[in-house]
Amino acid sequence: MLREIDLSEISDGKLYTGNDMVKADCRGCAGCSSCCQDMGSSVILDPYDIFQLTGHLDKSFEQLLGEDLELNVVDGIILPNLKMAGKDARCVFLSPGGRCTIHKARPGFCRLFPLGRYYENHSFRYFLQVNECPKPDKTKIKVRKWLDIENFRQYEKFTADWHYYLKERQEMAMDSEGSEGAELVRKLSMDILRRFFIRPYNQKADFYPQVYARMEQAGEESL
Ligand code: SF4
Ligand code: SF4
Repeated sequence: MLREIDLSEISDGKLYTGNDMVKADCRGCAGCSSCCQDMGSSVILDPYDIFQLTGHLDKSFEQLLGEDLELNVVDGIILPNLKMAGKDARCVFLSPGGRCTIHKARPGFCRLFPLGRYYENHSFRYFLQVNECPKPDKTKIKVRKWLDIENFRQYEKFTADWHYYLKERQEMAMDSEGSEGAELVRKLSMDILRRFFIRPYNQKADFYPQVYARMEQAGEESL
């Protein structure tokens, strides 16, 4: 997340807003599931993804861990990601026929692909990854339609706020040294895991007030 990227090498050189048209529409992917395989630990999940997944599958975060999700260190902080399994390293939610079995609740990373996010000034815009999706002749689609997510504006705001919230903690973790530093890193990771991922969300209530309350509470409490 903290890595710098050279947009000129991986994109068409343009940055897009949610209302812009972008040549990303693979028209249902038609037989391709390449971005659902061999993705390593790169499909990193945020609290909204976990809210969606736990609600859709009616399982707790702990129940999803191991079978469907795993934990890995991302820039010093432990975060959940989708698990790739088997000899072909397929996403655990990919059917044998190559379809996503949790399409309605698929994570933000999956909705976005082959777009990426470019963060600056506490916000972000989108870019088109030109080397990632092999489907030829993609057509133009409005970015927000491609993402196909409820409360798009609120989702975008939360995505940016979460990115910078995490970034601050990742920088603290990366700057820490020695045994005191190691203890701080452990506390930071455990706090984020417990506060935003393990503790269940009320599925009958709006997600955003819940997650912002947790962010505010974290700001008021010392580790
Ligand atoms: S690589 Fe492109 S066409 Fe293939 S599944 Fe992913 S988005 Fe669809
Ligand atoms: S959750 Fe669905 S869209 Fe995302 S990688 Fe898995 S199968 Fe593909």
